[in-house]
Amino acid sequence: MSADANCIFCKIVAGQIPSKKVFEDEDLFAFHDIAPWAPVHFLIIPKLHIPSMAQVGLEHAPLLGKIMALAPRLALEQGCRPYPEGGFRIVTNTGAEGGQEVHHLHVHVMGGPRPWLRG
Ligand code: 5GP
Ligand code: ZN
Repeated sequence: MSADANCIFCKIVAGQIPSKKVFEDEDLFAFHDIAPWAPVHFLIIPKLHIPSMAQVGLEHAPLLGKIMALAPRLALEQGCRPYPEGGFRIVTNTGAEGGQEVHHLHVHVMGGPRPWLRG
């Protein structure tokens, strides 16, 4: 489960598909969603190709913890207003019935003034 040659998010991590980067370190990559539902809408992904939350085990706890701990900081940096008036929504769609379209684990972070396009 390192890079998957057919995965668009692995290609984004590798720079083979352009993206509007929000953050990068050795483990994680964050970039703006190409079809935002909210004024602020970016995705945080592990660089490691994990298809979805369904493949996550306890060994991934540090990686997922890092994603969750980074989200509030990036949300503010990207223009979400502070809690409690502002805030943000975190969503991870998993599998077909969970509404997942891209099978590389990603956390949506959405926020900004309402109304939103969806949600
Ligand atoms: P999912 O439905 O799998 O939870 O969400 C996938 C998200 O990835 C969608 O919101 C979609 O707009 C976004 N997306 C799909 N392809 C690309 C792309 O090539 N670049 C970027 N920046 N976002 C993408
Ligand atoms: Zn991938």
